[in-house]
Amino acid sequence: MTNLSHSLNSLQTGTWFKLICGASFQDLPTIRNLVLTYALASVDCIDVAADPAVVRITQAALRIAHQLQPQRPQPWLMVSLNDGIDPHFRKADFDPTQCPVDCPRPCEVICPTAAIALPNGINRDRCYGCGRCWPVCPQGLIQEHAHIYEPRTIIPQVLDLGIAAIEIHTQVGNFEGFKRVWQVLQPHCDRLQLLAISCPDHPELISYLRAIADLISPLPCELVWQTDGRPMSGDLGKGTTHAAVRLAQKVLAAELPGYVQLAGGTNAHTVTKLAEQGLLQHQNPERRAVAGAAYGSYARKLLMPIWQELEQRKTSHLEDQPDLLQRAIALAKNLVQPLKQHSQGVPGSTGLASQNSGLGALTDLPQQDARLKRQRAIVEHPS
Ligand code: SF4
Ligand code: SF4
Repeated sequence: MTNLSHSLNSLQTGTWFKLICGASFQDLPTIRNLVLTYALASVDCIDVAADPAVVRITQAALRIAHQLQPQRPQPWLMVSLNDGIDPHFRKADFDPTQCPVDCPRPCEVICPTAAIALPNGINRDRCYGCGRCWPVCPQGLIQEHAHIYEPRTIIPQVLDLGIAAIEIHTQVGNFEGFKRVWQVLQPHCDRLQLLAISCPDHPELISYLRAIADLISPLPCELVWQTDGRPMSGDLGKGTTHAAVRLAQKVLAAELPGYVQLAGGTNAHTVTKLAEQGLLQHQNPERRAVAGAAYGSYARKLLMPIWQELEQRKTSHLEDQPDLLQRAIALAKNLVQPLKQHSQGVPGSTGLASQNSGLGALTDLPQQDARLKRQRAIVEHPS
């Protein structure tokens, strides 16, 4: 038996699955239920906005998951920061009083998170900046508001909350911005299990990533290159996965130090496409392969029908509706398991306890009661 944490083991065996809640997504009730569901579906990492309220609700959801299945390893908790203007760190906004009464409201229809509802306008917590609403407004009313985190303020805050990982979103040409974030983060890296660098494609991508690798080396924690193929698009259709796989291939070929994990366009077709390209680790252990994949908009869209039903039942706590929780976990597992199944036969790839989950102390948990036991029985032994 190796001494690795479950999540680290997944990176090493090419079965790493990260849930992306959204770097700008701040809808706390949805984040709580999303995290609970995917934690119970055995993801390795949960990536959330660098917002203390979001981190705390994520930790609360992880504690509930631990109550329901104490034997299940806890995922690492990651927060995402940016070093400059980046599409993941923005919100849409408009003044609904300016909308013509006869507008057919294409903005409402296209929004993947139901963040827009007239006459109120935009629910900013639900908006994750996908950008789909502003081109469809015939009046040109919708504007984009970017947000850049101030590293000296946000990094100490999130580290003190006990997170396990940080991701820095950067882009070719923003090396000075990256250095500013790195200056603040570097002295604290030994408190992390993992540092991830997320970057979209560009003709100069590889030389940019090499410059970053030189700057941050040596690292006291694991390093993941997140190849952001087609940002925030996995829910748009099968084709988006091609961009994600192509970019992962390009970065793998550069043989940078660290793991390569794809994102940006990942969906239910991603593992099949990776297998067709021979990029899964079990297909050729001698060659460099992807360490895993991160799923954002597709993973969230899968559970939208569950959230709608929860709303109809006028409750926000998924664990209080065991039938819905069970359906949510089944949907999540359908996405998680194809990647995990490639670990079958790889020694040490399952069943390891997490060394550092990013969870706070469990001492504030209520005593197990009959309700909890019933919930636990349903989760562990679905009919
Ligand atoms: S469509 Fe995208 S950018 Fe517009 S409100 Fe919805 S989540 Fe925000
Ligand atoms: S599409 Fe534009 S004008 Fe129409 S409801 Fe939406 S924001 Fe208002």
